[in-house]
Amino acid sequence: MCGIVGVIGQDNVALDIYQGLLAVQHRGQDSAGIACFDKVRINLKKGLGLVSEVFTEDNLSRLSGKAGIGHVRYATAGSTPLLDMSPFVVDIPHAIAFAHNGNTVNYLDWEQVFRERIQSCCDSEILLHLFSDKLSQDKHLDVASVFDAVLSFMKDVNGSYSIVAVVERLGLLAFRDPHANRPLVMGKRGNDVAFASESAALDAMGFELVRDLLPGEAVFVEPGGIIHEKVLLPKAPRHCMFEWVYFSRPDSVLEGKSVYETRIALGKQLAKAIERSDADLVMAVPDTSRPAAAGLAEELGKPLAEGMIKNRYIGRTFIMPTQEGRERAMRVKLNTVKSVVKGKHVLMVDDSIVRGTTARRIVKLVKKDAKTLHLASTCPPIKYPCFYGIDFPIPSELVAATEKDEDGVRKKLGADALTYQSLDGLKKALGVKGLCTACLDGDYPTEIPVDVRKKLEAVRANERKKVGSAYV
Ligand code: SF4
Repeated sequence: MCGIVGVIGQDNVALDIYQGLLAVQHRGQDSAGIACFDKVRINLKKGLGLVSEVFTEDNLSRLSGKAGIGHVRYATAGSTPLLDMSPFVVDIPHAIAFAHNGNTVNYLDWEQVFRERIQSCCDSEILLHLFSDKLSQDKHLDVASVFDAVLSFMKDVNGSYSIVAVVERLGLLAFRDPHANRPLVMGKRGNDVAFASESAALDAMGFELVRDLLPGEAVFVEPGGIIHEKVLLPKAPRHCMFEWVYFSRPDSVLEGKSVYETRIALGKQLAKAIERSDADLVMAVPDTSRPAAAGLAEELGKPLAEGMIKNRYIGRTFIMPTQEGRERAMRVKLNTVKSVVKGKHVLMVDDSIVRGTTARRIVKLVKKDAKTLHLASTCPPIKYPCFYGIDFPIPSELVAATEKDEDGVRKKLGADALTYQSLDGLKKALGVKGLCTACLDGDYPTEIPVDVRKKLEAVRANERKKVGSAYV
């Protein structure tokens, strides 16, 4: 999963992009980068770490250009962090800077085609070369040839992608895959135009949200703010439900739905799945689950308490190789408020349960003081791998896929009771037409042949050994 931002304006845009990237930092902490076009060349700066660690006043001032893009990366493909950083750039035949959020299902085929040219293990670089080749097929570089290249690209790429790109001299391009699986919004500030993974980034840059890009749509903006919009290859929308459940910021609005309000609704729907509760209090696993816990507590008429505190200064770099190290990390990252949970029947809300490793540790932590612990997940059981950019591509790692039933999951986690949201409850709460729920029901938006699935799982399992995973 990654975050992308693109801006074209009247003045240099690097500072805007920097602010936008800060707002989508939660979408990736492995690396950050900005590329701007200054009428002659593409100026690029990228590095490992957080946005605030990569950029300084000095290097931002050298990123001149009135059209630019930015990227924050969380690795879902690739295992060579220094080479995998985005944006990627090509200089010939046309200078293009390219940033991508999503995952390409058929990237192994394209890797064969471009293996002489690519340096990284990242599908984004492959996609850039594919797009560059398509664009170079037309002698006249104009808006029509850009749209032709995007349409041809869409026909050849199986997977999820939201993309922003600067095309030399012409302007800023943004497009979304035919199922609009990954988010991409457009905003305006006078004649300046911006695109971002989430509306919170538009807010941070001082842009007004205009709309989400449509499935299979491309938008091209020329210098001066002339906007060209074209729906090129539309298919039924399959927006990733995980954006509302877990990934996006609560202050973002995607597909017209406030992430915060949908999380409250998820809590209320989850309450309907709990037939009877003797809980003394409801609490959240911080931070994503807070609105859901509030919704659930209100619906059940139970008191809501802050029973757990998260240390915000611990990133995913704080990964320990041993069991003892992981227990230590857990104690630093999360702690209970003992006066709140001591001797209580606790109903604890979590956004989702993926591998179950963290949930098991949290249950153990709370049960040291609580009398009983009932765990409730706002997301139904995750039983199938995701091939579209959320980092759980290996079925054997998913606790709901490996245990026989929900009671098996409960026992594995050590909870006294476990309630999952139903699929119907999730759909009602989100109220979004055209959701991808493939990791819940196995109904994938695009065709993924069994052999491709196995190869992707094997590649990712191998990379996982080197770079780890965010979902534990
Ligand atoms: S499979 Fe699940 S996580 Fe992946 S895109 Fe679909 S809904 Fe999102």
